[in-house]
Amino acid sequence: MPELPEVETIRRGLEATLPGTEITGLTLFRPEVVAFPDPEEFSGFFPGKVWGRAGRRGKYLLLEVADRVLVVSLRMTGQLVLLPGPAEASPGVPADLPPHTHVLWHLSDGTRLRFTDQRRFGRLYLVGPERLEELTPAGKLGPEPLAPEFTPARLAEILARHRRPVKALLLDQSLVAGIGNIYADEILFAAGISPLRPAAEVEPEAAARLHQAAREILTAAIASRGTTVRNYQDGHGQAGGFQERLAVYGRAGEPCRRCGQPVAYLRLGGRGTCYCPRCQV
Ligand SMILES: [Zn+2]
Repeated sequence: MPELPEVETIRRGLEATLPGTEITGLTLFRPEVVAFPDPEEFSGFFPGKVWGRAGRRGKYLLLEVADRVLVVSLRMTGQLVLLPGPAEASPGVPADLPPHTHVLWHLSDGTRLRFTDQRRFGRLYLVGPERLEELTPAGKLGPEPLAPEFTPARLAEILARHRRPVKALLLDQSLVAGIGNIYADEILFAAGISPLRPAAEVEPEAAARLHQAAREILTAAIASRGTTVRNYQDGHGQAGGFQERLAVYGRAGEPCRRCGQPVAYLRLGGRGTCYCPRCQV
């Protein structure tokens, strides 16, 4: 399930190749992935338009195309991959289309941009920038954890307002954008804070540790080009590398990398949670 580092990795790959490329056509195999506008208007918009900058907000890709923004919500298993021309294959991507191909943008340089989604929870929105907040989930997010305005004081202020377990709060996209189940577990371990601790009981000194851990883990994960635990691929079909560095996520029962005690597992708000009961208080 792509989180901030994976979506940022996809964004960087697309930003390196997409801007300035013209769209010659679009094939919409599965209209229900289009959340806005209606599929006919969506399909009709793209031919002849040129891609602009590739942006990101939280876990959403924001791809400029002419005077509008294509918002891509990958959810569980969505993938947006740039394919070379029909004749050649790139590493990890077969030349012929895999199943679950929902949308294909044909580009003037012979490449194709492909949206696939096995579980079909992913959605596409095509809106004017001024209607981003009204019509898409990308407009209703808390601060970006890597932005300068996300300070330790800002995080402490968010924590102080809530009694929910601190992990539930980290996962709440309206409070902090981009953190999902994998990085929430990793950040809390790095900060030495139990996922169960009520957010309001995270004192300012621990909030500063949590802030620093969030920055460090997310930055390191971006540098490793994301985490591949199921089917995540970047914008060119490559897997990430951060799964080699996970401290607790997916390691229930294995020895804690810091103290050697078994990593514990519990369900918290319906989400599997891995943590060390000794190192995290
Ligand atoms: Zn430990």
